[in-house]
Amino acid sequence: MEYISRESWGATPPRKPFAPLTPARIKGVVVHHGGVPNPPSGVSAVIAYERHHIETRGWLGIAYNWLVDEHGAIYEGRGWFRGGATKGWNSRSVSVCYTGFGEFEPSDATKASIKAVIAETQNRYGDGLWLKTHRQFKKTTCPGEWLGDWVESGLDVPHNPSSVDWDAIARYIQDLKAQVARRPLSYRRRSRGEAVRIIQRALTARGFDPGPADGVFGRKTAKAVKAFQRAQGMLKVDGVVGVSTFTVLFIQ
Ligand SMILES: [Zn+2]
Repeated sequence: MEYISRESWGATPPRKPFAPLTPARIKGVVVHHGGVPNPPSGVSAVIAYERHHIETRGWLGIAYNWLVDEHGAIYEGRGWFRGGATKGWNSRSVSVCYTGFGEFEPSDATKASIKAVIAETQNRYGDGLWLKTHRQFKKTTCPGEWLGDWVESGLDVPHNPSSVDWDAIARYIQDLKAQVARRPLSYRRRSRGEAVRIIQRALTARGFDPGPADGVFGRKTAKAVKAFQRAQGMLKVDGVVGVSTFTVLFIQ
């Protein structure tokens, strides 16, 4: 992954310093694209956008915080200073611009570099940042259809979401719930089977230790269920998985 500083790409020094960002105010990352169907390649695009922003718009410098070209090279725009690409949000967000045309899928290297900029921004300003596209802020097609959909779907969601059958999973959980309602799971009953295994996995995922997910409701599982019930506050602490404990464990 190539990183190109302002000095290296020959950025025009601003006529007055860029304003610093206040870390506590940063809420998210906004993705843009160049918006030109056949954009100049590599550094030429960065220089062309800079000229447009300074000469035509009269801005202090190139508006984007970071830019990524069609080969995945990352260019420092305003860097970690206040940008100018997302009106109304420039002091509260960091922008990254794909210098190409986001109507079409960019290269894998470009996608990896966009993700790297987002990850670095989260590193600096916290994991809770949102990720949005320019078109979510104003009436614009920026950052193009392909790139926009990719960013808005969380970057790596499979392109065929129907490969995950959420309805089937929901039905399965409902079936298990009905089963637990008829016959609560407990150490006293020596419950075993798939339902117990799923509960053990859910307890582990929530930070409780039921021992290995072996599908056997042993003492350790009972202890973990009690710890979970106690931590929840409103559940009866009896170590038995009935409808209420099951519901809190899976549905809330
Ligand atoms: Zn934009």
